Amino acid sequence: MSKGLLIVVSGPSGAGKGTICAEYCKRHPEVFLSVSATTRSPRPGEQDGVHYFFYSKEEFKGMIENNELLEWAQYCENFYGTPKKYVEQALNEGRDVILEIEVQGALNVQSRFAGGTYVFVLPPDPDVLADRLRGRQTETEEVVQKRLSRAMEELPLMSHYDYVLENDQLEEAVNDLERIVRAEKMSRPRRIEDLEQIWKIKE
Ligand code: ADP
Ligand code: 5GP
Repeated sequence: MSKGLLIVVSGPSGAGKGTICAEYCKRHPEVFLSVSATTRSPRPGEQDGVHYFFYSKEEFKGMIENNELLEWAQYCENFYGTPKKYVEQALNEGRDVILEIEVQGALNVQSRFAGGTYVFVLPPDPDVLADRLRGRQTETEEVVQKRLSRAMEELPLMSHYDYVLENDQLEEAVNDLERIVRAEKMSRPRRIEDLEQIWKIKE
């Protein structure tokens, strides 16, 4: 059985990563959407184990020391990380896995994991990003400002990604993510092992 595809959906806060991934997973319930660990406080309505695993800073440090995280990053005063074992398990079962993570963490995954697909999500322009971040009403204006300034630092790092996904109309953005995944599954490096066996291809 071939392994699942690791799809890393990343980009600035407010770009629409969470919204796009949630919609994609509604269309593809077989996909494993990784639940991250974080030290930030839950927002109203967020449930432990569903939206995030919420930990204290000490607990989070313990996870780093025990090598339980595939990647982790500090983002605007909190820590965020991807628990490794569920991701590995799902990939080995042949399921596609989505990581919805910020930019530093995505680059850390790149340095440790061969074969992932890296998608950088962006709204059409900076004003839309600011409007969406404010419109979400989950952060104070001070935190919004920090996230916007972090966004400007993250933009040049899109050069490390395979795809840039513009999030203008949500439905179209989700369609585009589907197209990206479909194209990746047809890529020669992913297909070659199977093809060599079926067609008895020799060097
Ligand atoms: P991120 O996960 O990247 O931080 P979110 O998914 O939380 O971003 O999106 C930020 C805000 O923008 C949310 O309020 C969300 O409902 C809204 N949003 C996301 N995508 C769109 C879109 N295509 N059109 C309009 N609003 C959107
Ligand atoms: P928020 O506080 O808005 O939920 O998340 C802040 C940022 O952290 C977002 O850009 C989100 O994608 C990112 N994030 C969520 N989980 C992880 C993770 O496991 N690792 C990393 N590196 N970033 C994450």
